[in-house]
Amino acid sequence: MTEQTLPPDEQSTDEAETFVYMCTSCPLGCRLEVDAVDEDVIEVRGHSCKRGVKYGTQEHTDPRRAVSTTVWLHGGPCERLPVRASEPVPKPQVREFVRALQGLVVEAPVDFGAVVASDVAGTGIDLIATREIVSERERETVG
Ligand code: SF4
Repeated sequence: MTEQTLPPDEQSTDEAETFVYMCTSCPLGCRLEVDAVDEDVIEVRGHSCKRGVKYGTQEHTDPRRAVSTTVWLHGGPCERLPVRASEPVPKPQVREFVRALQGLVVEAPVDFGAVVASDVAGTGIDLIATREIVSERERETVG
């Protein structure tokens, strides 16, 4: 008996499931329908621009989230330092990433964009300061 191989299009359409995501790349929030066989994306529909195709594919295969928060600051004019992850964090690791920051205390002064923690929770992603902080001593000198 000879084995018959269907063309890739026919194979995947028969087995594909449809997953629904909302594109968050812009405020329009298009409703994306992603046809996929497991992690293999066959088609993305419902997008109003190309970014939607990229977003739908990423969301299905490797969802990630931007993380912004604050951490403790010592020796500065306020108690908390605003920070963000240097790149979007894989969704399953977001909780672990944020938890790893709970005991972190950053010493002032801090430059805008400075890495204040490296490889947070083993993700390979750093933590970046999103505000410049001068130390209390510097402030007294300037003031
Ligand atoms: S598909 Fe394009 S227009 Fe629609 S939400 Fe995404 S970025 Fe905005």
